[in-house]
Amino acid sequence: MSAIIAPNIHIYLSMFLFFQSPLLLIPFSLIFLADGRLSTGHAGVLLAERRGSYPLIDLRTLKSNAQQGEVASGTRRKVKRLLSFQRYCHASRLLRGLVPHTPGSLHLLDDDYLGQAAHMLSKVGTWNFDIFLFDRLTNGNSLVTLMCHLFNVCGLIHHFQLDMVKLHRFLGMVQEDYHSQNPYHNAVHAADVTQAMYCYLKEPKLAEQLSPLDVFLGLMAAAAHDVDHPGVNQPFLIKTRHHLASLYQNTSVLESHHWRSTVGMLRESGLLSHLPAAMSQDMEQQLGSLILATDISRQNEFLLTFREHLDNQDLDLQLASHRHFMLQIALKCADICNPCRVWELSKQWSERVCEEFYRQGDLEKKFDLEVSPLCNQQADSVPAIQIGFISYIVEPLFEEWHRFTEPSLLSQAMMGHLHKNKAHWSHLRYTHTNSDTQAHSNSEEERRGNPAPLSSSIFLHRL
Ligand SMILES: [Zn+2]
Repeated sequence: MSAIIAPNIHIYLSMFLFFQSPLLLIPFSLIFLADGRLSTGHAGVLLAERRGSYPLIDLRTLKSNAQQGEVASGTRRKVKRLLSFQRYCHASRLLRGLVPHTPGSLHLLDDDYLGQAAHMLSKVGTWNFDIFLFDRLTNGNSLVTLMCHLFNVCGLIHHFQLDMVKLHRFLGMVQEDYHSQNPYHNAVHAADVTQAMYCYLKEPKLAEQLSPLDVFLGLMAAAAHDVDHPGVNQPFLIKTRHHLASLYQNTSVLESHHWRSTVGMLRESGLLSHLPAAMSQDMEQQLGSLILATDISRQNEFLLTFREHLDNQDLDLQLASHRHFMLQIALKCADICNPCRVWELSKQWSERVCEEFYRQGDLEKKFDLEVSPLCNQQADSVPAIQIGFISYIVEPLFEEWHRFTEPSLLSQAMMGHLHKNKAHWSHLRYTHTNSDTQAHSNSEEERRGNPAPLSSSIFLHRL
């Protein structure tokens, strides 16, 4: 069997490598700028990222890159080949029918599981929705299942005359391109953000004003906002001279990649191909503007504008530009809403995100790179990270969101969870510090829930 397959593998691999360029050049008269605006490109092409330009970190070349400070073009080619091969192995297993087996008991219980998943979907708009349980019940297909359901209940399939096969193909690609090995930035996080986004879109203050296009863009951006996330942050990509960092000139590197990859998948699936070109171009551009807004380093810029609008009471949701701004804010809230969930869910997310930070720190240590802030498991405890994150990032944004909703029942519930969770982390931090029998002059402050002695700027460069 393998002897027969081997030549085919060789041909397939050669073809794959030949086409393994991170950018897909499509003849077109417009080009997207990093901030999501459209502009005419000098080469007259629109750049979308080709699916498969995985930003995996190649550990075999990392050390020499970091030490030499420069990546030789030959090495860069080698990295691409290695990454392509990984992807090729996955594809060839599928071609040979070697799909991963699920335990037999799952088949027996499939109907029961799906029945429970369907029951959960009937409560998809409630804030206590347990996305971890939903992911288990759908056998790891939470993102696809959730999005199909939401598109249906929101009437988007009918409104945009979407082809269900293409929609499923697109969502399958998005879900598959999230890295399941990431503790945090995986498809379950995307599903969680999408579910939160749906809750926010239903807020009375917004719901009546939103058009089907707004809802479509909000859900799509939430589902795809972290697609193909490598599990490390932008500074890591910059210091290891990853090709994406140079591609996007060290600015909104990950967010640009998430957006361009989404555009690539939209085109590959043909999901919007039946719409007028001007309309699908506008949708791609707006998706970019929404996804780029999740860049945490732009947090203060959005927060100040939001605060100003609320102070001046000049938000006019009849205006498309104001609705778009509120979609950006809603997506930003959804992306960092973990501390506003019930403790049992919130705690799981906190542990996962810290685990991802620590893995980056371990990688940095292993390859003699400076360990990034918040990534040192010995120095940066989960409670300390969470208290800083809540104090500097989450609370300021949600206080304004609370004001915007005037405040809604959901908003009140979220603020309640947020304060309880912060107090819980403060308590854990206090007991953690005491159990380590370390002298700690700030313990009284911490018990009162005051911020950890971590700088706010650390958090603005972290996620
Ligand atoms: Zn995210």
